[in-house]
Amino acid sequence: MAVLWLDEISADDLEQVGGKGASLGELTGAGLPVPPGFVVTAGTYRSFIEEAGIDEELFEAVDVDVEDSNALADAADRAQELITETPFPDDLREEVLEAYREVGDGDAFVAVRSSATAEDLPDASFAGQQETFLNVTEGRLLERVRECWASLFTQRAIYYRQEQGFDHSAVNIAVVVQQMVDADKSGVMFTSHPSTGEPTMIVEAAWGLGEAVVSGAVSPDNYVIPRESDDEVDVTVAEKKVMHVKDEATGETVEREVPEEKRDRRVLEDEEIEALVDLGERVEDHYDQPQDVEWAIVDGDVYMLQSRPITTIDEDASASAKADLTEGLADPTKGVTDGSGTATTSSTESADTTASDEVIVDGLGSSPGTASGAAKIVSKLDDLAKVGEGDVIVTEMTMPDMVPAMKRASGIVTDEGGMTSHAAIVSRELGVPAVVGTTNATSVLEDGQVITLDGEKGHVIEGKTLEPEEETEPVEEVRPQSPVKPMTATEVKVNVSIPEAAERAAATGADGVGLLRTEHMILSLNQTPEKFIRENGEDEYVTQLVDGIRGVADEFYPRPVRVRTLDAPTDEFRQLEGGEDEPDEHNPMLGYRGIRRSLDRPDVFAHELEAFRRLYEMGYDNVEIMLPLVNDAEDVYAAKSLMRDAGIDPDKRKWGVMIETPASALAVEEMAAAGIDFASFGTNDLTQYTLAVDRNNEHVADRFDELHPAVLRLIGDVIETCREHDVDTSICGQAGSKPDMVRFLVNEGISSISANIDAVRDVQHEVKRVEQKLLLDSVR
Ligand code: PEP
Ligand code: MG
Repeated sequence: MAVLWLDEISADDLEQVGGKGASLGELTGAGLPVPPGFVVTAGTYRSFIEEAGIDEELFEAVDVDVEDSNALADAADRAQELITETPFPDDLREEVLEAYREVGDGDAFVAVRSSATAEDLPDASFAGQQETFLNVTEGRLLERVRECWASLFTQRAIYYRQEQGFDHSAVNIAVVVQQMVDADKSGVMFTSHPSTGEPTMIVEAAWGLGEAVVSGAVSPDNYVIPRESDDEVDVTVAEKKVMHVKDEATGETVEREVPEEKRDRRVLEDEEIEALVDLGERVEDHYDQPQDVEWAIVDGDVYMLQSRPITTIDEDASASAKADLTEGLADPTKGVTDGSGTATTSSTESADTTASDEVIVDGLGSSPGTASGAAKIVSKLDDLAKVGEGDVIVTEMTMPDMVPAMKRASGIVTDEGGMTSHAAIVSRELGVPAVVGTTNATSVLEDGQVITLDGEKGHVIEGKTLEPEEETEPVEEVRPQSPVKPMTATEVKVNVSIPEAAERAAATGADGVGLLRTEHMILSLNQTPEKFIRENGEDEYVTQLVDGIRGVADEFYPRPVRVRTLDAPTDEFRQLEGGEDEPDEHNPMLGYRGIRRSLDRPDVFAHELEAFRRLYEMGYDNVEIMLPLVNDAEDVYAAKSLMRDAGIDPDKRKWGVMIETPASALAVEEMAAAGIDFASFGTNDLTQYTLAVDRNNEHVADRFDELHPAVLRLIGDVIETCREHDVDTSICGQAGSKPDMVRFLVNEGISSISANIDAVRDVQHEVKRVEQKLLLDSVR
């Protein structure tokens, strides 16, 4: 049997059907309404390669030194070619197609998903490495199955198996083929309260396909259903402006406006709620723990698309929860977030109404979303211990060693800083709402006081939010649902400052990383590079860099990742162990930082370059080197020569500079002659140095204007010169996330734009709009 139907599969078939296949099979077997489908088993893949006689050649082809990037690339090409060019034997072809014809009405749209059979074994996390194809029909089914098999042999997959000590010939792959559900309505359901575990079901529902709810493109209706009392279902009907539907012609998922009469209409009928509650109870019973279920309704029939255990239940809250949980959180000091927040609780609770309207602290909204929680004033590092899950950190300015606490926090408020400060950058990447530059938060707010902050308006009010909170999942919320991502000629990339944000950044669908700041990796070591090297050795320092960069390079591979060499001002280094040896500068922003420090300490810079060399050797050919704060071609020639000394061939690798000083903007032609591949505008610094406005000084924040004509003149001239010399241009400063700047840059002909994680989607759309307008103008 080449295929196994989902209803024939049990958890024991893991080896034959992989983790995904086994879990869908288990749910089907439990009588739950899973869309029909089958699995092309791992055994089938195995006999395909064996009967065609390509198995030995395949495993020999991938038995290479994976540290040799050329050999690795050749191995992957050869292995994939062997699979995709080997025809299906007739009997197998017939069996798979026959099974397909039994799904739906014979011309169903199906999802074709890889399910590697070592996926769920300990230490073998291949998840996400293999292909998935949506909206497949008979014509391309076999080709897609073979492409899933071939995806077992991408460069990264080969590299990983080798690294983890897996024998290539021992890893197999199954392929799940499952009917896609063309939903009239869909959403998610928590079978128990997602923060307290109480028997309250929470359902979110919207029109059309589930992607709209999961991706956050639409605010869904919200239904809170007490399971153990006769209390009424608490319904909040949202205005649902858009829906995702299947395009009849192409089968692709597209976004459409919801017809006027349905926008404010309640999505779920009472009987449908009953059917969902029944389904939720069955799933919860089956797994014996609360579940987070994705569901869909087609012609009145309820389907279950996915079920996972709820991992956000707070044991303490669960123990102390009061009976009526529909009125908010059981623990008033436990924070909640919405917008882009790292919500640990559900959107689906009705709002608590304890907040007042009076703004008690005002600053710059620097990371969108609202958050409520107990304020924790952090004035020294020891205070970080008191920051619990869901608290709001209130501090003068955040520091790299606060990042773990920032991850626990539901929100962040600072006295100091602007939109490009540490607090603003890191909180945006973590998806934690933040208000910065308030000047007085640490003196006005009290430790333990419950507050709500609005990371868009920059307001802090007393008490807990009046708004209903929304459930968001930081990674899912930024993931564009195909084909929503607009194809643009100008590349849209994303900025990453902390390696932990890489997954979230990659989920935006960005075309690569336009700026990976390495200083957060170094500063989180808590020691200056010199001290770290003294205590742990050069090799360990290089390893730290390699590991940090590699995590991001992997997440994006083969999309390019532009890694900036170290650029931390001495005042940040002074906070670290070993900081006492740092120069005490009157004006660190104008001081010993960026390329000037690297050129002054080639012995230390050599370790950074060694990290790049190792990454290239390991096959990370998507890594690019970016030099910060250069002023002229002399800086560039000096750095280029150090690259050569470190064993990096500048003619073979992509490297370039940041344009952050007026001097560098004026010298770009000479730098082009020095061989740079790209010039990237660091508008945070370019603005500060052009206008003489300290970017971190809240007293002059209103004068910090990246769109000032002087800044735009420099940028426009650089783009023009670079175009003449075939040098790519990009922006990686905060202004790349602003629509006005995006419009200006695309009109000027910039090659790529790198935005903050939360802004990528809007920037993609803005770029598309401007490009289309340019095209239209050219033909009109
Ligand atoms: C910039 O200056 O615009 C930039 C991106 O670098 P940083 O903010 O790290 O100085
Ligand atoms: Mg800069």
